[in-house]
Amino acid sequence: MIDTTNLTAGQLADAWRPIRATSPADEADPLVLECARRLIADPGGEQAHLWVAGLVAMTGYLAWRPGPAAERAARGALRAAAEVLGERPCPHDSHPYEARMDSLEDEVWAGRTSLVGERPTGTGPVLCPGNVAGWARLALDVIAPFTVRRIPAGAPAYHHSRIKTLSGIVNDYPYDSPRDVLADEATFLPSRPTRGVLAGYLVTMHATCWYAASGRITDRSVLEAMIKGIGEGVRLLGDSPCDHAPGGHPDTDDPDCAGSVGYLLRSPGGRAEMAEDHGWGDDEGDDGAADDEPLDAWVCPAFLRDLADEALATLTDALEGFAAAEDEDNAEGTQAL
Ligand SMILES: [Zn+2]
Ligand SMILES: [Zn+2]
Repeated sequence: MIDTTNLTAGQLADAWRPIRATSPADEADPLVLECARRLIADPGGEQAHLWVAGLVAMTGYLAWRPGPAAERAARGALRAAAEVLGERPCPHDSHPYEARMDSLEDEVWAGRTSLVGERPTGTGPVLCPGNVAGWARLALDVIAPFTVRRIPAGAPAYHHSRIKTLSGIVNDYPYDSPRDVLADEATFLPSRPTRGVLAGYLVTMHATCWYAASGRITDRSVLEAMIKGIGEGVRLLGDSPCDHAPGGHPDTDDPDCAGSVGYLLRSPGGRAEMAEDHGWGDDEGDDGAADDEPLDAWVCPAFLRDLADEALATLTDALEGFAAAEDEDNAEGTQAL
């Protein structure tokens, strides 16, 4: 365990740079806790941008399986910074953090915040409190989707293109080969997904499973790949308890809508699109917990486990149908001989 308390900002930055989702907790947690400690001590202070940059850089770790104390401290400190800095008036119409929302997926840690290291000196928009607060909100939303407001709406262009393709399939007017599209989708689960990406993957699998099981796909390997991917997704779901009221889980009856949500869930800008449709405005405060239909139910492990079970049952039944049809073909083939 490294002693982080006496590190300079530069030494701390050198230490947090290699932190990834795969980093061991005894390496990453002390760095997260130190950044969070320094940030919460003065969330609107002159050095706040450094500690926000550190937590953004370690978001890949924080969005996966951080120690509970580290996650709690990071979320508390980021929220405090977003609130204090986000309230400061500034003359800018926009800030650098929102410049690439159309390509920003959940991997915000891979985006260049420019808050540390090579950056313009002075008080340009990079160091504007509004920009630092913006990065803090993005990191919070990736670590804990739908817990923060005022994220600029707009999913990445690639995600919108997938939504269009999937919409064609679930409406039975496919543009591309459904076999190829669904085979690709089944492989799109990373080994350490963020909560939004994992939820999005399982929602997409659920939205498309009826099509895969309908007999329109004749290649059984597609269904097998979907079953394998869903099984992996279920294993990656955390075990946090469901605290939603009965009936508080989202309605997924409309596969077109669910197919779209499956991709919107995978980026801060996409989730902000959902929030906008849900009526979250800029001036309603930052707490979505009081909603009647909480958006965070889309990433609830209990909800996702139910979706996965339904999809697995549908696909498994269809595969059994394939096997029965193959047996019949074989029997007919034998008789013909
Ligand atoms: Zn500004
Ligand atoms: Zn729930």
